[in-house]
Amino acid sequence: MSEKKVALAVGAHPDDVEFMMAGTLAMLGDAGYELHIFTVGNGNCGTAVYDHNEICRIRAEEGHAAAKVIGATYHEGLVNDIEIFYDELTLRRVTYLVRALAPEIVLTHSPNDYMEDHQNTSRLVVSACFCRGMRNWLSSPPLPPTFQDCYVYHCNPHGNHDGMRNLVVPSLYVDITTKIETKENMLRCHASQKEWLDTSQGMDSYLITMREICAQMGAMAPQPVPFAEGFRQHMHAGLSAQDGDPISEVLGAATQKKV
Ligand SMILES: [Zn+2]
Repeated sequence: MSEKKVALAVGAHPDDVEFMMAGTLAMLGDAGYELHIFTVGNGNCGTAVYDHNEICRIRAEEGHAAAKVIGATYHEGLVNDIEIFYDELTLRRVTYLVRALAPEIVLTHSPNDYMEDHQNTSRLVVSACFCRGMRNWLSSPPLPPTFQDCYVYHCNPHGNHDGMRNLVVPSLYVDITTKIETKENMLRCHASQKEWLDTSQGMDSYLITMREICAQMGAMAPQPVPFAEGFRQHMHAGLSAQDGDPISEVLGAATQKKV
């Protein structure tokens, strides 16, 4: 295993990390963290054009290309879109990755994100981190338990609102203004999603939409900044030995807490 500290970002679909977490992840990379991006879903439903095998291949290639922009390793999806369930086998497979990488910082979706794949990804990631040190919980494939502190942060829901259109207010803001171009370059790698998102979800242009989401978050920060990402930290027992907030400690002046 690497000597470096590891930061892992987990999205439901290829491009989710790029929308909501990639700026912070890139900054952690600059701070010396080894970076990993993992999507639980393979992106097979994100198309009106390609068949299953073709879109899975395209989206895996796009995921690898986007990760490469920030020197991250991309881990391809395990299951089909809309089939991300909180079930035993998927939890064992997500646990495998958490044990294999032993991340100190884990970024993932909001528990009250706008659709079930995102919500279930959030649940799977929290449980996999919680179970990382349980010797009698078997990962798939099997790996020994790990005991590192594991700090889980939930990014804001897509569009900063939950499924009932309630604004979600983060507890931690990360000023990603210096990384907005990097984030856009990563999202641009997901070229298959441009037309799909334009037509299916009314995203005028996904690049513009991403900037608008980050600008809204920046405006909500106690000391407003041009572009921000927002997070809430999962703090229950079993994740870290002590209460801590390594993102604030590592990124320092680029972070703000809700007042
Ligand atoms: Zn998604």
